[in-house]
Amino acid sequence: MLEVSSEDNYVGGEFRGKKRKAAVTAGKLQAVGSGILNKNAHGEFLRAENHMLRLQLVRKTKELEAEQIWRLELELHFMKKENDFLKRQLEEFKAENEFYKKTAKPQKTRRLCRFCKEYADHDYRNCPQRRASACSEEDDGSN
Ligand SMILES: [Zn+2]
Repeated sequence: MLEVSSEDNYVGGEFRGKKRKAAVTAGKLQAVGSGILNKNAHGEFLRAENHMLRLQLVRKTKELEAEQIWRLELELHFMKKENDFLKRQLEEFKAENEFYKKTAKPQKTRRLCRFCKEYADHDYRNCPQRRASACSEEDDGSN
């Protein structure tokens, strides 16, 4: 543990510009290179390289995922804003619609008949139901 950290510091000092992971890998390669290059060492080298590539792939994948997540979050943020805007607009339209329902529409076409308590094309004075009952009442009264 102590040896590894001291090697890290040494290599890190030599390759100052590089990232820490790259410096660690260079240290490993140096250690392998100093040994005898038999099949085992070569296998170790390939395994180390494979491991390094896998780490890079994982890191790159994570970076891409993070970027994608960030983009989606940004998109979501704008969609929420747009959604809020549309909701507000919808509320305005609803209010406007209610206004027209309450004012223009009943006056123009249908009114509440106070006699039969329905929205109809007639009103209290010429309600067919009232006329019918009035006629029968008149008949009753005259006879
Ligand atoms: Zn009526």
